Amino acid sequence: MKKLLIISSFLLLGLTSCNKEEKSIKQDSLPINKSDSAIYHTFSVDGKPFLVKQIGDNYYISDDVMISKRQLNVIKNIKSSNGGKISSIRKGTHSDFIYKWTNGILYYKIESSRRSQILQAFSIIEAKSNIKFIERTNQQEYVTFIDDSSEGTSYSSHIGMETGANKIVALYPTQGLGTIVHETLHALGYFHEHTRPDRDAYVAVNTSGLGQNAAFQYQKQPYSTSYGNLDFNSIMMYPSSSVMVKVGGGTWAAQRDSLSTGDIEGLNMFYGSKIIGSNNTCSNEIYTILHPNTVTLENAIGVATLTSLGNNKWKVERIGNNSGLVTLKSINADNVISTSTINIGGDFTFTGRPIVNPGQIYTYTVDPSVNNVTFSVGGATILSQTSNTVRIRVLNTASNGALPYVQISATGTSTCGVITKTIIPDVVI
Ligand SMILES: [Zn+2]
Repeated sequence: MKKLLIISSFLLLGLTSCNKEEKSIKQDSLPINKSDSAIYHTFSVDGKPFLVKQIGDNYYISDDVMISKRQLNVIKNIKSSNGGKISSIRKGTHSDFIYKWTNGILYYKIESSRRSQILQAFSIIEAKSNIKFIERTNQQEYVTFIDDSSEGTSYSSHIGMETGANKIVALYPTQGLGTIVHETLHALGYFHEHTRPDRDAYVAVNTSGLGQNAAFQYQKQPYSTSYGNLDFNSIMMYPSSSVMVKVGGGTWAAQRDSLSTGDIEGLNMFYGSKIIGSNNTCSNEIYTILHPNTVTLENAIGVATLTSLGNNKWKVERIGNNSGLVTLKSINADNVISTSTINIGGDFTFTGRPIVNPGQIYTYTVDPSVNNVTFSVGGATILSQTSNTVRIRVLNTASNGALPYVQISATGTSTCGVITKTIIPDVVI
């Protein structure tokens, strides 16, 4: 009987792309095995047992998901899944348990030989979410991608952004691009789809008779919450099996090819809406925003207008020949803000002191990308100029004896043609 269970579990686990159980199950059939060193801690959440596996100093809540000691302490203190701060984020998270990457930026370091595939995985996630992957320089918190041919599976150490932890995504050589996406989503803070607290409405799970090693990966994650329907096509979903079928019967296959519609929805809930469209326009531009709730255009008075076109599309339109930097802002249903800065009309930077003193000398500078720049001033005299800077001396007094009224204008050819920008500094004694 025991052998039968081991075989059925192995067949099941062989279909999944990311778990570490395969090796453990194989080892279970040996007289002496590493899994003997695994300790299962049982906690009570909602009056039901919840297992945390410990191997050495490492703790796991799922086969390919390691947690930190801080997260372990959160689990110890959660007695009820509804007792803490619960968000409404799909496949995400108890807010005390999962920490998001700040501003949706995950810093990474690649020590794996599979650099091009890893970068491809990042592109897949970036294309449909507000998340950005940036190669680490001196940032303290980052994920290291490594090769690990010893484990037989891929895994992610730590779910979400755990401060101070050594964060790893380990990749087994034969596992594909989709598995890299899967493990990266764990690092971003996502659980397996079939461990949602509401999963019993969709799937029937029967782990009776299985050992802890196998049953462990099917336990519900009580500190996650659900958003939308359970997504059988999620890249975070395990396959149907002798242990798990659809409620009422029926099977499905696990896919590791692409982000599902539900995966994209979850990414846009947790990390904010993806805003798709150009960062500059000379007349008007259409923007697509994934899973928005409230959309506004900031700093746009006199510069551009915003029109909703329906179907998650908005038009940003320049007003006349005016120019400026405006911000398209989206607040999603979970109150996460995302923004995109748009250069209207070829706006360029023209910088210098906003407060000046009579009789003093100042320099003002135009963005070097602007061509054919000319300067004109009032309340001051031009001392010298180069192609993109001007040196001025503020007058001591205006003709009526009052403080001078100073303005410095730069006219140049930018991406949208000829534009004039003016600075009017305050004059103080
Ligand atoms: Zn996984």
